[in-house]
Amino acid sequence: MLKVEGLYAGYGSTDVLHGISLTVPKGKVVSLIGSNGAGKTTTMRALSGMIKPKRGGVLLNGKSITGLDSHRIARLGLAHSPEGRRVFPTLSVQDNLLLGAFPRLSGNRPKGNVREDLESAMELFPRLKERRRQLAGTLSGGEQQMLAMARAVMMRPDVILLDEPSMGLAPILVDEVFKIVRKLKAQEVTMLLVEQFAAAALDVSDYAYVLESGRIALEGPAEKLKGDSAVRAAYLGGAH
Ligand code: ATP
Repeated sequence: MLKVEGLYAGYGSTDVLHGISLTVPKGKVVSLIGSNGAGKTTTMRALSGMIKPKRGGVLLNGKSITGLDSHRIARLGLAHSPEGRRVFPTLSVQDNLLLGAFPRLSGNRPKGNVREDLESAMELFPRLKERRRQLAGTLSGGEQQMLAMARAVMMRPDVILLDEPSMGLAPILVDEVFKIVRKLKAQEVTMLLVEQFAAAALDVSDYAYVLESGRIALEGPAEKLKGDSAVRAAYLGGAH
């Protein structure tokens, strides 16, 4: 479980987040929705240690991870699948995935069976299975995005931060990504999801927060937010 309390973060002297609080309960999928520039990616970065929070606290399974380095946070069980294609281009798909398991192998968390998990990841992401020996840098953008997501899964984390997993993907791949999120949810993987497709994100989520200019403007069960007229007008194109 991930708990964020009164988080302030930003870049240089500029605050982007102005005291946000949210909870991602164990086994649940929680979405963070909001317009461009609202601070969704900044939230993910502040949680995973890519940037340091200025004030406030982040608790993972009841223990503070506030201000720790990103590699320590990963070892404690929080995985970040960042926006964009952050893979190791000169390594094969398989080696990228094996590296994904590294934080759990070097930390105090259960080590599990990495080979078995590799095969499960290949089943979950069939596109990667077909390309397991291909260099990651030669994958299409969408495939690289899936690899970044699969690498986070390989960590067997307690919580996954999924930042825009569908960004820049062709519609058929977007559907595939959401199917994978559903499968992970069925396995009770705990996720915080940021998605440009707010309607699809709410469909797979249990609960959601609406972020506006670095503040939580609204929150509630995803089903309820889907029916909220202000949310529909601002984020769902009014058509859902
Ligand atoms: P989008 O949906 O467009 O990705 P977002 O909600 O994820 O938006 P952020 O990427 O968190 O928004 O950006 C919030 C604000 O922080 C924006 O004003 C942005 O310009 C600024 N920002 C983001 N990254 C940096 C950075 N590395 N340095 C300085 N400012 C940044």
